[in-house]
Amino acid sequence: VTGEELDARISVCRACPRLVAWREEVATTKRAAFAGQPYWGRPVPALGPPDATVVIVGLAPAAHGANRTGRNFTGDRSGDWLFAALHRAGYASQPESWAAGDGLTLDGVRIIAPVRCAPPQNKPTPQEKQTCAPWLDADLARSAPFVRSIMCLGAVGWDATIAGVRHAGWEVPRPKPKFGHGARAMLRTPEGREVDLVGCYHVSQHNTQTGRLTEAMLDEVIGSL
Ligand code: SF4
Repeated sequence: VTGEELDARISVCRACPRLVAWREEVATTKRAAFAGQPYWGRPVPALGPPDATVVIVGLAPAAHGANRTGRNFTGDRSGDWLFAALHRAGYASQPESWAAGDGLTLDGVRIIAPVRCAPPQNKPTPQEKQTCAPWLDADLARSAPFVRSIMCLGAVGWDATIAGVRHAGWEVPRPKPKFGHGARAMLRTPEGREVDLVGCYHVSQHNTQTGRLTEAMLDEVIGSL
């Protein structure tokens, strides 16, 4: 399928009843601060050019962030950190993004959520992760001819990426590489091209407010891609 067909199929997926109910309930009730805004309330597609050399794999849309704006990391505190760092590194046209259509463009980076619909408490179940995996596989296949580095924000993205590329016939070191901040592993595509797998703590408020992830730590990983 073409990229447009893939995005169209993803956009109408209703395979996870709990997540469909949650994404639509949040989009209907809304947060007071965003009461006048439309909510996306659907699966969130990849953000950034399909031929990007860097792919970032996150976790899932935030209820009032990407589930509101329809763009990964747009409109929440995690995005403040990520887009600021991508801007410092020359990948993003502006340091913040709070609304779809605010002029943000990404150059050389594509951001994908391994679970496309907002989960309650940001916690998808193992079943939901598994159900959404084919969409990640399809998006990784789309990126495969171009990607040089895959940066995973957290263990969920790391595990989903490894499962996805294994499924696509890529070589992954054994034993399975363990996630950690700054962890690295060399993957090999079926064509024999090397792709760097890089771990980074997630830019969640929990990590950034506690100092588990600092700007310097984030910049260092992004600078190494
Ligand atoms: Fe479909 Fe993924 Fe959303 Fe589940 S999380 S409904 S598989 S798009």
